Amino acid sequence: MSLPISAPNATVSAKGVFIDNRWRPGASGRTVPVVAPAEGTVFAAIAAGDAADVDAAVRAARAAAEGGAWSRLGAAERGRLLGRLALAIADHAEELALLEARDTGKPMQQARNDIVAAAHYFEYYGGAADKVHGDTIPFLPGYFVTTEHVPYGVTAHVIPWNYPAQMFGRTVAPALAMGNACVLKPAEDACLTPLRLAELAAGIGLPEGALNVVPGLGEEAGAALSAHPDIDFLSFTGSPEVGTLIQTAAAKNHIGCTLELGGKSPHVVFGDADVALAATTIARTMVQNAGQTCSAGSRVLVERAAYDQVVTALADRFAKLVAGTPEMDRDLGPVINATQKRRIEGFFARAEEAGVPVLARGAVAAGVPEGGFFIAPRLYGPVPRGNELAQKEVFGPVLSVLPFDDEADAVRLANGTDYGLMAAVWSLDGNRALRVSRAIKAGQVYINSFGAGGGIELPFGGMKKSGHGREKGFAALHDVSQLRTTIFKHG
Ligand code: NAD
Repeated sequence: MSLPISAPNATVSAKGVFIDNRWRPGASGRTVPVVAPAEGTVFAAIAAGDAADVDAAVRAARAAAEGGAWSRLGAAERGRLLGRLALAIADHAEELALLEARDTGKPMQQARNDIVAAAHYFEYYGGAADKVHGDTIPFLPGYFVTTEHVPYGVTAHVIPWNYPAQMFGRTVAPALAMGNACVLKPAEDACLTPLRLAELAAGIGLPEGALNVVPGLGEEAGAALSAHPDIDFLSFTGSPEVGTLIQTAAAKNHIGCTLELGGKSPHVVFGDADVALAATTIARTMVQNAGQTCSAGSRVLVERAAYDQVVTALADRFAKLVAGTPEMDRDLGPVINATQKRRIEGFFARAEEAGVPVLARGAVAAGVPEGGFFIAPRLYGPVPRGNELAQKEVFGPVLSVLPFDDEADAVRLANGTDYGLMAAVWSLDGNRALRVSRAIKAGQVYINSFGAGGGIELPFGGMKKSGHGREKGFAALHDVSQLRTTIFKHG
């Protein structure tokens, strides 16, 4: 197969939708242009999948899940196939990384890391497929009771543009491991690697219909998939606004869903922290993916007595950050599109109009294409607690610093947004670090480290308005399967 990335600046024809291990033209014949964020120019096109394509994909998945070759495989065989896909991803790593970098604009090294992570998802869940055990439950005399985790059947997956390859692995690998057949709607802004990964899955012998991908617009393909009456479970990662639509669609069909809706994750830095380590980690992980990471630590809450020291260290790191093209491989790439760039710059303009001080600015590398969506990182502080920079998910390379007075104030501030996805506590007083970490309402809390998006083995998901359900780790396997209890009266 020839890849769009192999012909820089060329517009390639959409191959269509990927159903039953084959490309087929999208039903409408319409396409959506694909823009390279580092260049601001169209370099590919994808099919604008619609309700008819979604329906065909759901039918294919239903046939695979009920009676098809996929449904007849044992758990170990499913696991072996996922393991083979992990190896195929590793074999195509550089090709996939180039495609991911072109489609999203991220630095090449990060794109490479993302492909390694995508492969790891299939390796991990391939290994787990035959290790999800039920229980036996003591009951009345003469009874034997057991539980088992059974697949839903057809699972639907709507994913965002920020980590297309990783998101594909994160949501599809556990669903397949449990024996579901999947229909995936990747984001229109970046979906080339999910399409290529589906091709690779067909290539390693994944049975027809087990994995189907319908690219297209959210309001068209995404809405049709989430409202389809024959899906059994819905998994979504993206904005809170669309999350509401997804949960409403799931409610109308009386099916379950997991929602991962982003965050405003705090770093809580006490005066006794290793400030140098904290500052380096906080700055690096904040600009990862140009700040477009749901789990980004975008607020730094600092004990007032250490405020100047921490701010000086953070400003030093931030001033050195440079945005560049994927090939330049600098600290960050461009943001995903012109709308996001305008949206982020709107936050900057309003903050500065309100008098929020800029503590440091990074730079955009010389020589980047003029049309690219680059933004120099910014550090603001002290940010007033009610300011939108302290409350809203910006999804850009910007960090807000806020002082706190004592432990109780730190916890109040950490919990003082609608979100509850991630947090970090930085303190060398272990008792305090653990106490504070347990008082923060967040699905994951790091102590003296931080990994935005890291850790396939670690259950991940939101509290509060960051969403519900868990991905990653064995928790994901439980979320994409349902428990059946068998009660056997043997007398
Ligand atoms: P989005 O929620 O609009 O898009 C996410 C996915 O949902 C895409 O595949 C999109 O096509 C699909 N979608 C859009 N409308 C839909 C609909 N009506 N029905 C079904 N599916 C639909 O997110 P976005 O526009 O790409 O980004 C906007 C904001 O969302 C960002 O600024 C950021 O704050 C947040 N976001 C969060 C994450 C995250 O990981 N939590 C990821 C991306 C974006």
